[in-house]
Formats: sequence, structure tokens, C-alpha cells
Amino acid sequence: MMIPLMAGMLLLLHVMLHFKAPSPPYLGPPDKHSGQGNKPIKRVVIHCTVSPTERGGARRIAAYFRSDAAGGSAHYVVDPYEIVQAVYDSWVAWHAPPNPNSLGIELCCTLSNKGRKHWGRDDHRLMLRRAARLTAALCLAYDVPIRKIGPVGLRAGRKGICGHHHVSQAFGQSSHWDPGPYFPWKEFIRMCRHEAEELRSGKAEPEQPKKPAPQQPAEPTEPRPEPDHLSRHERAMGAGPTLVDRGRAWIEIAAYRAKQEGNDTRRRRLLEWLDKGPKK
Ligand SMILES: [Zn+2]
Repeated sequence: MMIPLMAGMLLLLHVMLHFKAPSPPYLGPPDKHSGQGNKPIKRVVIHCTVSPTERGGARRIAAYFRSDAAGGSAHYVVDPYEIVQAVYDSWVAWHAPPNPNSLGIELCCTLSNKGRKHWGRDDHRLMLRRAARLTAALCLAYDVPIRKIGPVGLRAGRKGICGHHHVSQAFGQSSHWDPGPYFPWKEFIRMCRHEAEELRSGKAEPEQPKKPAPQQPAEPTEPRPEPDHLSRHERAMGAGPTLVDRGRAWIEIAAYRAKQEGNDTRRRRLLEWLDKGPKK
């Protein structure tokens, strides 16, 4: 009697702990992909489209991925108003080589001025929240820890969340530097953890949050004036990239330059610093 009872309880536990992958509107298939075999998922890679942050932006990028003009593809595209899926999770998209075992999320951002002052804007805040909810849902569904991984962690095969530029630095198979040196990594990971908690406690659904997003801004047009600077209070509340994030971003750029100059020693030292902090 005990064994069927325990098996039943384990099954119930499994059902309770199993999170389904999100399923936003599917607008694929992409023109460029490497077929099935993407699972198991080891990392979620954040990108920027280098296209306007606007209503319909995600759908336009998905349409581009379907066209033969596209040079690549990614699994999800996010704008401030919507998430769409362009490639099934089980398919290998062309977003940040080596591509297998990774999911690519594109944020609709021009990255003008390298994205400086973008991430505190109302439209970008909405987009970040959508992306965090999506990232959290994917991490829960595929058992990926919600933590940032850098080039050393990527090369060691660790699971986590990173930017395209981290993959570029780790494997040298692309030169893209999105989502840019000003992407608020620390805050984004915090947002992902918060969304995961909400999902675990059943408060939020990946695609249909029960509460409407507050402060829905008017439809943004590009270019739009940017605030001169964030106040100290906004910064303390996490409204912009932290000094540490900025410092790390510059080190990442320096490491990329060192690679281009063929200075392997300097590059390795910079990458080690990024993963472990300065030598004592
Ligand atoms: Zn932007």
C-alpha cells in the first residue's frame, strides 16, 4: 500500500512543481534556424533588435525573421506592449552562436547612444517588466537558475541568463555587443526573481497578469527627448544601471578590444575579474 501511495504523492509533487513554458502568440516559422534539438535549455540570452521601441515593434521583427532577408532569428521578441514567439523553444534559432541549448529574447530598442539613458524610460520599463516575466517563466519551465552568467561561466557550461555580448566574449563566434553597456543587469535579475516568486505562488500568469500594468505610457514615438539624468532617489530605487553595472560594462568592452588586439593575457585577466572580482 505504501509504495503506490508514495508514487501518487511524488506524481502530485511533480505536477505541482512543474511549470509550463509560456505560449505568447506564435508568429513563426523563421527563415533561418538549425532545426530541432535545442533542449535541454542551458541559458536565456538577452538581445536588442536595434529597431524602434513602439507598438507593433515585436510583430515587425517576427515578420522580418520569417523573411529571407533575415540574417538570423530569435525565440521571443518583446516590445512594451506585447511578447510574440518567432521560434519554438525546441528549435535552434540563429541568435548568439553557439546557438544550441539556448533561448534568445529580443528587446525592441534602438540602442542609440549605446542605450545610454534608455532603460529608465517609461516604455523601456514596461518592456523590461514583460521580458523579466517571460525570462522567469522560461527559467522555471526549463530549470535554469535565475542568475547572470558571464563569459567564464558560459565557457564552463553553467546555466543562467546572459547578454549576447557575453556569448560573443565567451566563444568569439560573433561580435555583437547588445543589449549594450547600459543594460541594468542587476535590476533585471532582481525583476526576474520577483516574477518567478509571483509565478511560484500562483499570483501571476506569464501572459495574462491579473493586474493591468500601471502607468501605461502614451504610445512612444522615436526619437523622443530623454531625461538629462536620473535623480539620486530614482537611482537608489534602481531606476538606472548601477555604477557597478556600468563599471562591468566598460570592463567587458575593454576585454572585447583586448581580444581584437590579440592581447590574450589582458583579455583573460579582465574576464576573470568579471566573474570573480579583483584579485586580493
Ligand atoms: Zn532603447
